[in-house]
Parts: sequence; structure tokens; C-alpha cells
Amino acid sequence: MRVGVLALQGDVREHVAMLHEVGVTATTVQRPEQLDNLDGLIMPGGESTAIAHLLGTSGLREPLAQRMAQGLAILGTCAGLILLSTTVIDGRLDQWSYAALDVAVRRNGYGRQTASFETELDVVGVGMVPGVFIRAPRIDSVGPGVDVLARHDHGDGLHPVLVRQGAVWGASFHPELTKDTRVHRLFLDSI
Ligand code: GLN
Repeated sequence: MRVGVLALQGDVREHVAMLHEVGVTATTVQRPEQLDNLDGLIMPGGESTAIAHLLGTSGLREPLAQRMAQGLAILGTCAGLILLSTTVIDGRLDQWSYAALDVAVRRNGYGRQTASFETELDVVGVGMVPGVFIRAPRIDSVGPGVDVLARHDHGDGLHPVLVRQGAVWGASFHPELTKDTRVHRLFLDSI
């Protein structure tokens, strides 16, 4: 299995390390031709506006949209989730996203950096996993084709935090920042 990690900005190294941990060789993706022959791609957390900008300047924006349309398996975490969503609330005025995952996310929906937190999440088919939320997007609504695999109530009602629509997965938290490999395994098992 060939799995890429989009390596424009954000916590690329942590995802690469996680993939190595589960026995998958990761390719870092910075140029369009590096999308060729991939079975899956991880879009890391970081800053969605910075990653969006670099997708444009690297020439990856369109080729990646084409691979998504062809059914490439994708896991977006945090900023990666924002980039995959159909609707971004509280985004920058010029913020674009791939609209590959039918969810509305609220950028920084759990508060600013100082409101970052860790909790335990009950993931369908997995059990309890640690959830690290850093200026995380909050999923405010999901479309009918979206499966919700975990939810969390941070005092603001129950919101989905791990979702899947076919081959496209999104997590508002950072599974790569823990030692628990099970969310990555769940995604990889689906490929
Ligand atoms: N708030 C960031 C953004 O809007 C995402 C934070 C993260 O990826 N840890 O891109």
C-alpha cells in the first residue's frame, strides 16, 4: 500500500512516524507527480489558509481535486478536515476548500490556542482513544451521506469529531500526536 502525507505545512513528521509505526511506508507529497500511484493520502493539521495557499503555489490544487474525484482515500486531520469540508464557517473571506466531505466546520470552533484540550473519545469499532484538540475546527453539521464514528461534548452540545464519507475521512482532533495508532489503522484498513 502506498500512502502519502501532504507535506506543505503542519505536522507532517508526526503522520509519517505514525505510518511507519503501523508498517506502512509513507511518501511525502509536495509536487503533483508525487500523487501518482498513491492508494491513500493524509492531509495534516497546521494552518488551513497556509496549506491552501501552498496547494495553489505548488500546483497540487487541481491534480489533488482530480484524484479525490477518482476516489483516492483521504484522511484530513484538523486543518486537513477544514480543507476537505463543503462549508467553512468563520474562515477567511477568501478561504476555499475541496468540498469532498459533506460537513460544515467552524474554524477554531472550540476556541483559541489557549482553549486547546485533551479528552477521551469513543470511536465506533475501536473503543476509547485519546483526542488532542488544538485550535480545532468544530463540525457543526453533517450531510446524509456522512458516517459519524465519534462524537464529543465540550460543554457546547454533542458534535461529531471523526467522520467518514466513502473514501474521505475527517478528524477534528490529532490522532498523530498520541501513541495510539488505532485511528490511522482504521483509515488504512478501509483502503
Ligand atoms: N485552526 C487551524 C486552521 O484554521 C487548524 C488547527 C490545527 O490544524 N491544529 O487551519
